[in-house]
Formats: sequence, structure tokens, C-alpha cells
Amino acid sequence: MIPSYARERHLFVEKRLKRLQGYSERFSYTRCEDNSPLTKGGYRGVKGEKGGLSGNKKGKIGIITSGIAYQYVKEVCKDIPVLKLSMTYPLPANLIKKFAKGFKKVYVVEELDPFLENEIKAIGINVVGKENIPSSGELNPDIVEDALFGRGKKTKRNDRKLLARTPIMCAGCPYLGIFYTLKKLGLFVAGDIGCYTLAALSPYNAIDSTLCMGAGICQAFGMEKVLKEKDKKKIVAVIGDSTFLHSGITGLMDIVYNKGITTVIILDNATTAMTGRQDHPSSGFTLKGEKTKEIDIAEICRALGVERVRHINPFNPGEIENIISEEINQSLPSVIISKSPCVLLKHKARVQRQPSLTVDLSVCNGCMACLKIGCPALERIEKDNLSLVAINPMLCNGCGLCINLCGIGAIRS
Ligand code: SF4
Ligand code: SF4
Repeated sequence: MIPSYARERHLFVEKRLKRLQGYSERFSYTRCEDNSPLTKGGYRGVKGEKGGLSGNKKGKIGIITSGIAYQYVKEVCKDIPVLKLSMTYPLPANLIKKFAKGFKKVYVVEELDPFLENEIKAIGINVVGKENIPSSGELNPDIVEDALFGRGKKTKRNDRKLLARTPIMCAGCPYLGIFYTLKKLGLFVAGDIGCYTLAALSPYNAIDSTLCMGAGICQAFGMEKVLKEKDKKKIVAVIGDSTFLHSGITGLMDIVYNKGITTVIILDNATTAMTGRQDHPSSGFTLKGEKTKEIDIAEICRALGVERVRHINPFNPGEIENIISEEINQSLPSVIISKSPCVLLKHKARVQRQPSLTVDLSVCNGCMACLKIGCPALERIEKDNLSLVAINPMLCNGCGLCINLCGIGAIRS
């Protein structure tokens, strides 16, 4: 917008903000819960909730919260009145003032920066916030409980402890064979943002750097430029299809333009898996699920000037190893595309689950070579005082990758 229009439009923006302020005061998803003075007066109590201030003296403590922090508050504060804000800008200042009036102390429980706290203080309400609630890291019920009631003073909440487990890729994920091979080849892997970032962790330990979306290609190229000749060919960039289309294309263009030789591996699983399997321009579907033009990633790479564009079967470790080894030894930029859909795309009938594989325990010698791919369907078991491996049929999707790793043919379809 040109400045002379912008000045006029600013008046409109201010008027609109005022209207929004009124809307925020009446927003139906913002609600007071648990017999606060407002709910008592008939103001937006949760239908059917009786509440009660049995555990706390009426009017002593009130809590203002929003988003995920609200869930933690509800888990640890059964009887404390809560104002749950579902629209946080503009703030419903009048509603907050009305709510706060009823309590001696009002806590603001929010994750990270004190956005609500500062805004509420700015309208003249004294609240307790970040002096008790940490401003870094995610909150959880324990942190909220300690912050509100003092360290170690437990409320009567259900305190079931869940087993800790590290995040890993899915059974049959088409990334497993790629990272297994990259690790085996001892390459420096500049990673990117997606499910595959998990390959930085055990048991894969295959990604060496990750910065932000699209940065992996540029990092690999930057390293290539400063390293000695013999080390240049030990670097690859790995990026997912969705991230490549979002912000990887410009990095690849830079490599071609600046006479680089970087090898880029594009993991094309036909979706944006990490954030919930959203479609993207090369998935062939719009975000509404309608069929659409499927942008061809290989053609984009060729159009950018990459002469060496190759495809690999991600379930064939031998082929992966051969092609990566060939490409990193070229004196030209190259792209290797691993095209196989995310195993969780079953709902769109893109992945046909194959029958589960089994391990013949009379043949398995417990060498554990198959565990190196990090497939969660492969489980270590004890049998007749021997450590062997079995396949969990509930998890295995029959991708066949592990067959190739068992040198004695103990894994069978
Ligand atoms: S075939 Fe092997 S690698 Fe594939 S899902 Fe089953 S156990 Fe995992
Ligand atoms: S690679 Fe084969 S022999 Fe070794 S543990 Fe796995 S199934 Fe058993």
C-alpha cells in the first residue's frame, strides 16, 4: 500500500481494533470456570459444571490462562476459579478487570514470554506471573503445581507416571534405510526440519547439523566452499519434499550458480509428515484434499541447472549406498530423490500395508545387525538365555528393509 493510502487506512485499522476489542469481550469461547464471581453471576460458566471452592477459600486465588497452559492448570487446580482466554488480542480488558476484582491474588499462567502478564499489568491489574512461572521451555502440570502451591506441595491430582521413551521414526518409514546408509558411509550430513531431524538422535546418529527450514542445503554448500578438496566430498545435505519446496530451492540454485558440487538428498514422502501430514505442491492434492497438479521435484532441480538427478529405492540399502557413493564423487552438483510415501498415509490409500515379516528364531544368531536401522518393529528378546530379535507384527508393515541386513536369512516374509 502506498503511504498516502496507508495514513488513511490507519484510521480504519484503529476503528477495527476497537470493534475487535468488543468482540473479544463477548467471545463465546472465552470463559470463566469454577464458581468465580462471574460464573456465579451467570457469566459463561461451563455448562453442566458444578465447580465448587471446597479446597480453597472463596476469593483467595484466581487464575488467568490460555492455550495449552489452561490444560495444565485444569489438571492441578480442580477448585480454583479460572478465566480461560480464547482470544488474546485484543485482550478483553473489561472482562479481566471484572474477574480480577474477585480475588486477593491473580496468577497468570502462560508458556514462554509474559505476553498476557504484561498486557494485563498494562491495564492496571497486579498479577503474579513470571516471578513464579518459568519463561523458557514448555510447561507441564508439575511445573504449574510447584509455581502455584510451592515446590513439593502436591494437590490431589491423578499422578500416574508414564514410561519415558525417546522419539523415533515409524516402523517401515522410508527414511530408515537412507540414514542407516549415510551413517555407514561416515558422511557429514547437513539436515533440515522434518520427521527426519530425528535422525540426529540414537539409534540413528546420522545427522550432524540442523539449523532451520531450508538451511541444510546452504550449510552443506558453505562447508564445501571452505573445506579442503579431500573433505568436500564427504558432505551431503538431506531435506524433505515439503521443506525443499518451502525453502530449499533457493539454496540449490545457489549451489549451481556458484559452481558447487554438493550432493543433495531429497526425501520425498509425499506429505508434510511432521506437522500432521498436510499436502503440499508436489503431493498431488490441495489442502482441501482435492486432486491437483503434482509439481515434479526432479524437473525443478533440472530447471535450476542440476544435470545429475537420480532416484533411489529407499528400501534397498545396496542401491542407496552405490548411488550416494557415486554422486558424492562427482565434480558437479547432484540431487538424489528418494520417493516413497510416508507410512501413515494409509488413509489416502497411498500406502498398501504388506504382511508383517517374521524372524526365524532357530536361525537368528543375535548379531543385532538388523537393529542398526532403528525400526521400532524390531524388538530384542530373550530366549533360552540368548538375546535374539523378533518382529512385532502389530508394528511391522512389511517394508522388507530389514531382510537386506540379515546376512544369514533369518528374517522372512
Ligand atoms: S519389514 Fe523390517 S524394517 Fe520393515 S517395518 Fe517390518 S521390521 Fe521394520
Ligand atoms: S540380523 Fe538376522 S541374525 Fe542378526 S539379530 Fe537380526 S534377525 Fe537375528
